Amino acid sequence: MARMQERYRERHHGLSMFGKDLVRRCGAHCELCDSHGGSLNVFEVPPVAAEADFEHCVMICESCKRQILHPKRRDPHHWRCLTTAVWSPIPAARVLAIAMLDTFIGREDWAMQLHEQLYLDPDEQRWVDSIDF
Ligand SMILES: [Zn+2]
Repeated sequence: MARMQERYRERHHGLSMFGKDLVRRCGAHCELCDSHGGSLNVFEVPPVAAEADFEHCVMICESCKRQILHPKRRDPHHWRCLTTAVWSPIPAARVLAIAMLDTFIGREDWAMQLHEQLYLDPDEQRWVDSIDF
């Protein structure tokens, strides 16, 4: 996980050019849990290309970011938000939500039930499969 955090810091300034567009898109809501009012962070959904890619960026709150970066701090109650997020119209948010959902399968009944309802096209499925949370 340390490597993931390092990479996140290194690229952070390179992502600022997307900031305005992302702020407009998310409407000041976390694109995973929909929380409003806290500070939001640009998060790049892996795999991360050499050049920062807008299509891989999502705006997420501190709580979502912290729990993604620190698996031991993940609170299943918080991630009930995935029930909505997996249907996001934004591909990167949808893929991130499904990759997170996968981490709860086998541990949380709601995660399995939700997963059974999902349909992903093959490209998105490959994207989800390439994410190792
Ligand atoms: Zn959030």
